[in-house]
Amino acid sequence: MRCSLRSFPVLLLLLLCPLLVPAAETSRQVRIGVLAWQGLEEAEVRWSTLMNQLADQLPGRALVLRHFDLAGVAAALKAGELDFVVTNPGHYVFLEAESGISRIATLVADNASDPAHVVGSAVVVLADRQDIQALADLEGRSLAAVSPDAFGGYQVAWGELRRQGLDPEQGRPKPVFTGFPMSRVVEAVLNGDADAGVLRVCLLERLERDGALRPGQLRVLSPRPGASPCQASAPLYPGWAFAAAPDTPPALSRDVLVALLALTPDAAGQSWSVPADYHPVHELLRALQIGPYAFLRETAWPSLWERYWPWVCGLVLALLAGGAYTLHVEHLVQRRTRELTQAMAARQRLEVQVREGQQQMDHLSRLSVLGELSGTLAHELNQPLATIGNYARSLLRRQDSGSLAPAALRQAAEEIASESERAAGILGGIRALARKRNRVREAHDPAVLVGDAGRLFAGMLPGVPELQVCGRCDDLRVWVDPLQIQQVLLNLFKNAWDAQQAAACGAPIQVELERAGDRCIVAVRDHGPGLAPEMQGRLFEAFFTTKPDGLGLGLSICKTIVEAHGGDLSASAPASGKGLVVRFSLPLADAGNSVVREPIR
Ligand code: ADP
Repeated sequence: MRCSLRSFPVLLLLLLCPLLVPAAETSRQVRIGVLAWQGLEEAEVRWSTLMNQLADQLPGRALVLRHFDLAGVAAALKAGELDFVVTNPGHYVFLEAESGISRIATLVADNASDPAHVVGSAVVVLADRQDIQALADLEGRSLAAVSPDAFGGYQVAWGELRRQGLDPEQGRPKPVFTGFPMSRVVEAVLNGDADAGVLRVCLLERLERDGALRPGQLRVLSPRPGASPCQASAPLYPGWAFAAAPDTPPALSRDVLVALLALTPDAAGQSWSVPADYHPVHELLRALQIGPYAFLRETAWPSLWERYWPWVCGLVLALLAGGAYTLHVEHLVQRRTRELTQAMAARQRLEVQVREGQQQMDHLSRLSVLGELSGTLAHELNQPLATIGNYARSLLRRQDSGSLAPAALRQAAEEIASESERAAGILGGIRALARKRNRVREAHDPAVLVGDAGRLFAGMLPGVPELQVCGRCDDLRVWVDPLQIQQVLLNLFKNAWDAQQAAACGAPIQVELERAGDRCIVAVRDHGPGLAPEMQGRLFEAFFTTKPDGLGLGLSICKTIVEAHGGDLSASAPASGKGLVVRFSLPLADAGNSVVREPIR
């Protein structure tokens, strides 16, 4: 087959033709879905007039009418199968929220004058039921209705009953759903199967008009004055809505609206009006928590419990576990605190015991030093006492012989006074050392402390070598217990003397004072044999001694005393020559320091 370039567009058109024809047909179709709430047949009959009228108004358009139940409309909208929806006010409000449809017209029925007040409910009872005069009398009765989904046939009446403190949902009155058609409700009331029944507004009047019901046989409860020509027990709501799907072209919506408005009322008095305000329908559905507001029920406690009970149980269990754990921890904390308190009390008791023991040792060591020193105390005291005695006797002799010159008397008295002061000084120092006393911290000149200790040392022992004090802490004061430092110095002097005696050395014992930062260093140097290296580490051990009559406590107590003052004690070989240097540091007193006396137990 020959094919030229010129014939190509014709061929293309021929190929596309089968595809284009159905599309054009579809674009001419107007797909309308209606809610068949009373069944398909009833819907066919009900809407056929409208379809015919619309078809006349929309020449060139093919109207396709489809009937659905409540869920079917939403599904068809979702599938994009509808251009328009005709449905009751409650269902319209639901689809508006769910599928995004928007009303273009509202149905005015039964020759009502206002499209916003068309649909409603009439609650009817047998006319001779004297016991039921108003809606409030329905407490404890039964109430017939076609279906819980019927807007005018149930929901409007339900809303009104709720407003009056009743609630069919809770069985007050007990609802009896008969199903469609609505004449079944009338039958239930007439037969006595239900005390009352809910009818769509104007149905009662129509049934009476048509002869299906004897006029006056049924009575409307709590009739309200309103715009409707019929009796209603509840407020009236906007009529059925004619709504456009979200994807419907605006031009098509406009054409259909114009067509609807152009229609004349049908035989049943139905016509289409501009869209009414459906806000009251929203309020009713919200109050009943149905339709688009059904989710509100889910936040009610029972439904929350139904949905979240595993979480709630888990949370409660977690809280209980947390509480139990907290109690357990609390119990542990209390037990540990008790144990800690007991341990601390035991430790404090131990510390007191240690302190008392140390105190005791301190005292014993002072007594021991005194014991060692007082071996020759009698000899030392003998000398001043003998001198005093000699002077006293000499005075008596001269007095008796009448040769007592005033100058000689004066000299003898001065000697006696000086010797007795010397003896008293020795005894005073010994008494101070031997006494149990409170520990103190006072500011003292370190040179004075060294001098006092030296005098006591020289006063108690015969033939002690001279003490050479050099260097000063330049008018500074140390922050010390003077008697304890005297005890330390006496120990060091005594050890130095023992060492020099062992080496048969009569050289002076040297004491050097030197400032180092915020401390004063006191160094006692002798010229004895010094320390063998293996003894160096044991020098400050308690009971370490190389002396036959030694206790080995002196240096260990000195160390305790010095450390209690915040200083330290050490021994080393001198830079030159034989002997040993024992040095200790003492804190300097600063301006803020003052005398402190702490009681010793
Ligand atoms: P004690 O004097 O009762 O022995 P210390 O604790 O005062 O107790 O001294 C312990 C030991 O340290 C002495 O026995 C001695 O061996 C040694 N020691 C102390 N001072 C000196 C010193 N200046 N030179 C040599 N050795 C010393």
